[in-house]
This record gives sequence, structure tokens and C-alpha cells, in this order.
Amino acid sequence: LLGPINKINMFIETYPKGMAGFKRYIDFLETAPEIADRPEAKNIEVIEGDITFNNVSFGYTDKERTLNNIHLKVRPGETVALVGPSGAGKSTICSLLPRFYEVSEGTIKIDGIDIRDFKLQSLRAHIGIVQQDVFLFDGTVRENIAYGDLQASEEDIWHAARRAQLEEVINALPEGMDTLIGERGVKLSGGQKQRLSIARIFLKNPKILILDEATSALDTETEKAIQQALNELSIGRTTLVIAHRLATIKDADRIVVVSKKGIIEEGTHDELMNIQNAYYGLYTAQFGLQI
Ligand code: ATP
Repeated sequence: LLGPINKINMFIETYPKGMAGFKRYIDFLETAPEIADRPEAKNIEVIEGDITFNNVSFGYTDKERTLNNIHLKVRPGETVALVGPSGAGKSTICSLLPRFYEVSEGTIKIDGIDIRDFKLQSLRAHIGIVQQDVFLFDGTVRENIAYGDLQASEEDIWHAARRAQLEEVINALPEGMDTLIGERGVKLSGGQKQRLSIARIFLKNPKILILDEATSALDTETEKAIQQALNELSIGRTTLVIAHRLATIKDADRIVVVSKKGIIEEGTHDELMNIQNAYYGLYTAQFGLQI
């Protein structure tokens, strides 16, 4: 089992945004340019989680720049929400941090160390990503939560499941933790899958979190459970939230408005509402004027 699980683990660590399913992932692995470790790259075991984007520019192609001169500093433990119109580059900013893509110019540092000076595996070990598309492999709930971590004890796995609000869901399954899920097993709902991916991250315990907020509507109960799990998950971790629905990020420590021109506004919800500029415009467009 070790072989395939390690492979899956590595594949999820390199899993880019917007790709669903094994087949497409394999396509990606076969075509993606290798991001190689620099010869002097190190394993950096412990980090505080301080993130700095310094003058970062990036284009998916040589012809067009998606990001121009991004400056962003996130303190350890801080939650920063990225908001802005579709296509502004919120996801792109986040995908540069685990080095799914390389910056064209500028530097990204964690704790003052250029991310290219981390061994890729060590860099990605510090980053947990929660996204809409959750990859489940054919195996038990336990295996899917442990996700290749052979050191994880039964107690650790249950602890992660509880914190992700999954205990009742698992107890209601025909064979509890031993229930087979994935393509050939019990189908979990979207909300349950999302909580399973949150449980994985509790177990992995990274210092940095990227939350790609769901756009699809979940029922209120599920949404509450997920929001509660995410709130708990982000405690003590530096968190970047790619926000689509502004109601969920009102309490973020800081909100950063991204536009095609770069970062155009930063502040708390109240500060940005008071200045009645870009964020105010996005917010009132979503909610009308009753605030
Ligand atoms: P949304 O709110 O819709 O998720 P976003 O602000 O997260 O948008 P990005 O997904 O970062 O924006 O996209 C920024 C720009 O980069 C868009 O013009 C998009 O079409 C382009 N883009 C995103 N991913 C790729 C890719 N893999 N290859 C080429 N272009 C891409």
C-alpha cells in the first residue's frame, strides 16, 4: 500500500487548482514542467508562517502578465481574505506560494527565506489547501483522512475527524471508519467531502493555510459545520482565504482587494466599508445596501 499512497500523497501536494479527477491529474503530471529544487535548497522543518510577496509579477504565458508588482505581507497567524472580481488573480497569488507556478519577477518569502530555497516537499509540507474539488481515493474513511501519513494513530485520526465536525457522519456510515469511500464505495456529499479534506489538514498540521472558498451553495446546516471547522482550523495558522462570498470573510483580520492592476485596497471590513471605495462596491453589489 505504501507505494500507491505515497504517490497519491505527492500527487495531491502538486494538485493544481481547477483540475478534477485522477485522469486529468495524471495528464498534468506528465505535462507539467518540473519545478526542480535548487542545489542549495534545504529542508526547513519549523516555520512561524510569516509570508511576504515582494514585487511579484507573474504570467501564465510570456505574452500576458496576470499579476503585476504584488506586495503583500501576512504576519504569522493572521487571516487575510483576498477579494476582487473574477479573473483578478486571487487564485494565482495563492498558487505561487506552494510553487505550482514560479514567479516571473520578485520574490516570495516565508519567514524571510525565499520559497525557492526550501526543498519543494518541505515547502509544501507547511501548506494546507482546502478547495472545492476534494480528491478521494478508493479506500476507507480512515485511509482517506490519514492520506498517506503512516505515522497517524487511530487516536490522531479520530481527533482530526472530530475537529472537522465529521464524527457523527462517520458513526452513521455502515462500517464507520472502515467504510469504503471513493469511486467504488459509499458516495459522500459535497459538504462531507469538504470536511474530510479539513480533517486531513488537521492531521497534517501545517502552519500555512490556503482556503479556496466554495462558491456552490451548501445547505445552511452543512455550511455552518464547515465554517466552524474552518474557523477552528485557521487558529494559530497564517491563512489566505480566496473569498467569493463576502459574508464569510467579514471577520478576517485583513481584507485585500485584488484587481487586474494589483492590490488596490487593504483593511478590515469596517475600515473598507467606511472609505466607500472598491470593497464597498463589491459588498453592496452582493448584499444591497442593508449592511
Ligand atoms: P475567480 O474569482 O474567478 O476564481 P481569480 O481572481 O481567482 O478568479 P485567477 O483564477 O487567478 O483569478 O485568474 C487570473 C487570470 O489568469 C484569469 O484571466 C485566468 O483566465 C488566468 N488563468 C488562471 N489559471 C490559468 C492557467 N492555468 N493558465 C492560463 N491562464 C490562467
